[in-house]
Order: sequence, then structure tokens, then C-alpha cells
Amino acid sequence: MGLDISTLFVANIFVLVISSLAYVSVFARNRTDRYWLYWISANLALAMALVVYLVWPDLPVHLAIWPDAMLVFGFALRYAAARSFAGRPVRLRLFALPPLLVVAANLVNSQSINFGLTNVMLTGLALAVAWEFWRDHADRLISRFGLVFVYALIAVSFAARAGQGVLAGDQVQSYIPYDVVLEAHLLVAMIHVIAGSLFVLSLASEISADALREAAKRDPLTGLLNRRAFDALLADNLARGQVGLAVVDIDFFKSINDRYGHAVGDTVLKAVSKALLDAVGTCGEVARIGGEEFALVMNPVDAASVGTIADAARRAVQDCRVLHDNEQIAVTVSIGVAYTDLAGLTADAFLECADRALYRAKANGRNVCRAGLDPLGLAKHRGGVPRDRAGFMTIAS
Ligand code: GH3
Ligand code: MG
Ligand code: MG
Repeated sequence: MGLDISTLFVANIFVLVISSLAYVSVFARNRTDRYWLYWISANLALAMALVVYLVWPDLPVHLAIWPDAMLVFGFALRYAAARSFAGRPVRLRLFALPPLLVVAANLVNSQSINFGLTNVMLTGLALAVAWEFWRDHADRLISRFGLVFVYALIAVSFAARAGQGVLAGDQVQSYIPYDVVLEAHLLVAMIHVIAGSLFVLSLASEISADALREAAKRDPLTGLLNRRAFDALLADNLARGQVGLAVVDIDFFKSINDRYGHAVGDTVLKAVSKALLDAVGTCGEVARIGGEEFALVMNPVDAASVGTIADAARRAVQDCRVLHDNEQIAVTVSIGVAYTDLAGLTADAFLECADRALYRAKANGRNVCRAGLDPLGLAKHRGGVPRDRAGFMTIAS
């Protein structure tokens, strides 16, 4: 290709330093994301190793191992960065690799073995970084696949260098400055650093955008879906048809607040949320749609199962234990249920049906689960669903 090796070294050093600056700027805005410190120090360690290669290309074996060890240190930092980025603990034992390399090099004093060993370690570390990014691929973020690719690419290049070390024996150093494999490797390294930095930055922003979107859907006190997310979910399910809904309201919650204080009231809200979540399990979603009002949106099921799940939720709350100053606070809920298997019903009409059932449940003495009339009065679509004399579905208990 005829590219000058020194120019390639300089270009690599520049892209490493420039991407570090980009990381510094992102880190400055969000100092809780400490993984940027790993990415920054990794790039600086790699840049330092390249500076030594560039300035002192003919170091004797026992000294040449130091920039090699620095390179391995840089990739160990990248591995730490990738783990920390994914929220996994950093494995400090990998930082034993660079000193191990120095000790091994001083024992064997062979250019070829040092070179091979360095590149084998680098191949392993690059593959480990690719693996760390791959592990979370269920989020299907495109930058993540980009990162897996660029780390796999540099691993292949390191493996080729390791192979070259074995084949060339102690002649390895004498290739420079006409080393075609080194030239190709430095080109790959440059592409790797540029693409890798862009992908890391875009992955971080994709993940934080996802986290913001997710947070916007959640109620901060209970972690349940909030009213906005509930409205969207209900409308979406209704458009597809076959929806079960239960509107849940804590009984006499005002008196719990009055008696124990607002903070204890909040603890009760959290306990109720957990009981509802446990009761619904994988059968649907739980939302907090008002102060002490919740909603269970159930996956496509039949009317009878909606009633059964709703009543199980009522019992789960009744059985949940909220302790305050060694006193057990009794908490119950009343529930109104609605079910439809017809697509296109409006959310307002459907919710009103469940609300009317909830009103009846409250009027029936509380800690009760009642089902609303078929929202469209289409009894023929509900054959087989048991009803009481007033025309309400009966809830299994
Ligand atoms: P009912 O059995 O008829 O539902 O009676 P209730 O006392 O539960 O109903 P009411 O609507 O009179 O009272 C609801 C109370 O919920 C009033 C309000 O202060 C309280 N509340 C609403 N949001 C919160 C909250 O986030 N935390 C706490 N601790 N209390 C809240
Ligand atoms: Mg209420
Ligand atoms: Mg209430």
C-alpha cells in the first residue's frame, strides 16, 4: 500500500487523543458515568505506547516490552470500560497481565516470544471486549453490533500479528519500517479507533435516550407504569381487541394517611404496588393511575380469567403485611373490572365501565371485586361468562 509507518503511528495517536477528548466532554456533563474514565485512560495508555514505538523503534528486547505491556494495559482498561459500561463489576485480576508480560519477557529474552505473547494477550482482550458488548445484544441497538464488529476486527488483526511473530521468529523487529502486516494492522487500528469511538458515543446516547424514555413511563414512587403510559397501553390494547382491565382503589386510604402520616402512606402505596405486581405476574401490566388508584391491564385472556386475576390481586393486598412501629397496618382495595373482546372500543368508555364497577364495589362494603357490564351491552359475545342477577359478571372467589 506504500503508506508510511510513522505517519500511521502519528494518525493513530491523534485519533486516540481526539476520541479521549470527546469522552472527556461527555464525562464532564455526566460525572456519574464513571466508565468514561476507563475509556479515557485506555486511550491515553494506548497513545503512550504508540508514542514510544514511534520515537524509539529500535529498543532492545528488555525495554521494548514496556510499550507492549502498556498496550496490554490499555486493552485491559478497555475491557474494564466495557464491563463498567454494561453495569458489571470490573475484573481487577486482568490488570495482572501487563506486569506478567514484563516478567515473562525478562525471563525468556526472546523478541519472537514477547511479540507473540503480547499479541495473544491483545487478541484475547479485544475478543473479551467484543463479548461484553455482545452479551447485551437483546436491546438490538445498532451501535452495539458496530462495537462487536470493530473489536472482533482488531482481534483478528492482533491474531495475525501473533502469527507473524511465530513465523518470523526473532527477525520480527528487522521488518520495520517495511512491515506490510504492521502497515495493515495500523490501518485496521485506525479504523477501529475511529469507528469504535463513534459507536461507543452513540451507544451511550442510545442507552441514555432509552433510559429517559423508560423513566418517562414510570411513576417515581412505585416504579409502576404512570398514567400516561397506562393511557397509551390501554388504547393500544383496545385497538387490537380482547382486553381485561381492573381499576383498583385503596380503601379508606385517607384515614391511613391521617393516622400514620404521609410517609407511612407512601410505604403502604409501595406495598400495595408490590402485591399487585406479584398477583398479576406475567399476565399483564400494573399502572398507578392516580394518588391511591391503580390499574391492571391484562394480556388477551377470557373474561373469567380477568375476574380471577383481579380477585387474586384483591386477596394479595389484603394479605400483605405493612409494619409500622410494631403495628400491622391493615390495607385492602376495592376493584372494578371490565372486559371486552371487541376491537375499537374507546378507552374512555371502557375505563368508565370499570370505574362504575369500582363504585359498586365501594358501595358493596369495600375489599370487594366487582365486574362491569359488557361495555357495549353485547351479551351474545360473552356467552359462558357467569353473571349475577344485576347483569354483572361474577368474580370467582
Ligand atoms: P375510599 O375507600 O372511598 O377510596 O376512601 P379513601 O380515603 O381511600 O379515598 P379519598 O379519595 O378520600 O382519599 C385518597 C387519599 O389519598 C387522599 C390523598 O391525600 C391520598 N394520596 C393521594 N396521593 C398520595 C400519595 O402519593 N401519597 C400519600 N401518602 N397519600 C396520597
Ligand atoms: Mg381514590
Ligand atoms: Mg381510596
